[in-house]
Amino acid sequence: MNADLVGRRGQAMRAAVERGLIGPEEPVAGLLDLEAIRDAAAELRKAFETPGVEVLHSFAVKAASLVPVLRLLAAEGVGAEVASPGELAIARAAGMPVERIVLDSPAKTPGELRAALALGIAVNADNPQELARLDRLVQPGETASSVGLRVNPQVGAGAIGSTSTATATSKFGFALRDPGAEDAVVRAYLNRPWLNRLHTHTGSQGVPLHLMTDGVRAAYELAERINAAAGRQQITVIDIGGGLPVNFTSDEVRPSFRDYADMLRAAVPGLFDGRYGLVTEFGRALLAKPGLILARVEYAKSAGGRAIAITHAGAQVATRTVFAPDAWPLRVLALDGKGRAKDGPAVVQDVAGPCCFAGDLVARGRELPLLEEGDLVALLDTGAYYFSTHFAYNSLPRPGVYGFEVGEDGAVRFETVRRPQTLDELVAESGGQAGAQA
Ligand SMILES: *Cc1c(COP(=O)(O)O)cnc(C)c1O
Repeated sequence: MNADLVGRRGQAMRAAVERGLIGPEEPVAGLLDLEAIRDAAAELRKAFETPGVEVLHSFAVKAASLVPVLRLLAAEGVGAEVASPGELAIARAAGMPVERIVLDSPAKTPGELRAALALGIAVNADNPQELARLDRLVQPGETASSVGLRVNPQVGAGAIGSTSTATATSKFGFALRDPGAEDAVVRAYLNRPWLNRLHTHTGSQGVPLHLMTDGVRAAYELAERINAAAGRQQITVIDIGGGLPVNFTSDEVRPSFRDYADMLRAAVPGLFDGRYGLVTEFGRALLAKPGLILARVEYAKSAGGRAIAITHAGAQVATRTVFAPDAWPLRVLALDGKGRAKDGPAVVQDVAGPCCFAGDLVARGRELPLLEEGDLVALLDTGAYYFSTHFAYNSLPRPGVYGFEVGEDGAVRFETVRRPQTLDELVAESGGQAGAQA
């Protein structure tokens, strides 16, 4: 399967040049391997499939907030985890059925809560104040939404602080191990028979599987405690969040959804015995490997003995990689102007972006065949959190994103996932209608 992915990638990069999706006038573009996305969704389904257990896989929309991506995932039976009115609107525009949408966010406004309950989408409350708001909005027996609490099992941090959500002082959820907190959560459920789900998300990239498993086990044990205290199966759904890390160092999928599901089955067997429905919220692990960014080398230069390729992919599309390079390194392929792998002796060089600040580098001191004017670079594994997390520095427009499929005959078919942003659109969102009455 990986050989297929690598083969398709090579064909798509060459075809993108031939079709002009990338070139002097469109110097940066995103590509998404649609078959790889479908394969990842199928792997996820298979990994968690358990007789007698209802499983909803909801895709964390922030990882790729693109309507056609959500439409494709919806067709694969995947739902949507949303964390803002914008993400909800994107999921709805993709035709995502409301029963497959889950709303998690630490800062939901009263209006958002009302809208979610009116639609009947599932809601996970983050904190006691949000729960108090829900007390005023939920009409027991009338509200179709399944409502739960997000708990922070405080199992600790992974390798990347900014994506570790289960630390002692994390801003997310009810901090379960604070003095008295667990008892308060149990009471909150007993006092509200309409609360019927429990949510945890231990973190994203950098959190090891055993720590994710610890977090899920803590949520499961709490659900068992609440159900025992209630004397009935009050909690019927456990939402285990997302966070499966992605291997950014090779084309190997490691760990796999299967690895994680197997670890959970061994560590928390009760989760799979049919008493609970399960919800997952994976983002990165579904979309990262299927995507890449292609960018043109505008100039190649040298400074202080260092070869530097000035490309069109920098902080505007690879924000985390540029600002936190140690946590978010990317593989970079050196390609010629036709999108073919370049060969030649490895030369230590910096791969820079177009932004006007010195730190705008997507790779530092990387050994690659020497990049030259008119060549291309490919930033691999960028299907998640890169296309949809654009940074508007220097008013650089959002690049086009194209889905591709490779036919039996080797022909590559592209479809536009998102058009490149036009300068008119850019001016409009930069106050271009100034003077209008506020
Ligand atoms: C970001 C996020 C996810 C997805 O995390 P991945 O690492 O992309 O799988 C899932 N659930 C919540 C609540 C999140 O904030």
